[in-house]
Amino acid sequence: MVLSLLLLLISVPGVFAQTAPTCGSECPNTQIEPFRMIGNIHWVGLSDHGSLLITTPEGHVMVDTGAEEFGGWVRENVQKLGFKLRDIKYIISTHGHADHVGGFSVMKEATGAKLLTAAGDAPVLADGGKSDFRSDTEMFRPVKVDQTFNDGFQLRLGGTVLTAHITPGHTRGCTTWTTTVEEDGKKYEAVIVCQVAIAGDRAPLVKNARYPAIADDFEKAFRVLKSLKSEVFLALRSTTFGREAKLKRMQAGEKPNPFIDPKGLPAYVVEYEKRFREQLEQDRKKY
Ligand SMILES: [Zn+2]
Repeated sequence: MVLSLLLLLISVPGVFAQTAPTCGSECPNTQIEPFRMIGNIHWVGLSDHGSLLITTPEGHVMVDTGAEEFGGWVRENVQKLGFKLRDIKYIISTHGHADHVGGFSVMKEATGAKLLTAAGDAPVLADGGKSDFRSDTEMFRPVKVDQTFNDGFQLRLGGTVLTAHITPGHTRGCTTWTTTVEEDGKKYEAVIVCQVAIAGDRAPLVKNARYPAIADDFEKAFRVLKSLKSEVFLALRSTTFGREAKLKRMQAGEKPNPFIDPKGLPAYVVEYEKRFREQLEQDRKKY
């Protein structure tokens, strides 16, 4: 009886945890337990690449999905927290790279959500990365964008307002989102940063025919990020904002919530602006 039940369970797909998808030797992604980070913002992503679920009484917003191969884990994580996939009304992105939006097409089908993206990233989403300006692009399944937006756009749902700040350079439409979260009766300004990482020789900062304005765009991104009030610093890569260490502190009962981190964004900007200026200097000699 026990053996036959076991065999039955093995034969039913999805009963046991999925085996780890292959994504190269440096892939740091494993499945982790989803959790509420702060206010109505939940982490439903993987150990490194993220997906955020922002919940409201009128439906939810998903920010990024990670790569398509991890989509099953993300969908499972949403349900583990007790939320329904069909209640996700909008999917939005930070930026159009495969490791952030590769799962959009499948997630859109699973949720029926409307896909909104910055005008600058819309062509890349529509052609699955073909028009990406980097020299070696990871392709992904193309997806239909339902609505594009520009700097300053606001997405409103169930009392939550998400404001889009275009911080270009990493991609043309790289979008940093800001919102207000409430934690233990207090309100905090949260920033969900879009990466400002340079791509080395894959996207030179000078004489770049595919993206002539790349250096000016990065300059703009740093200016915008410095202007934002950031009490809660969030990102879609765990390593960017110390997700793992902050979660451990939260699990240890630390108050106030360790995701409140006003120094996080300024420190991130200092580090990445330094890297940008160093490459700019090198590229000016090289190209
Ligand atoms: Zn990227």
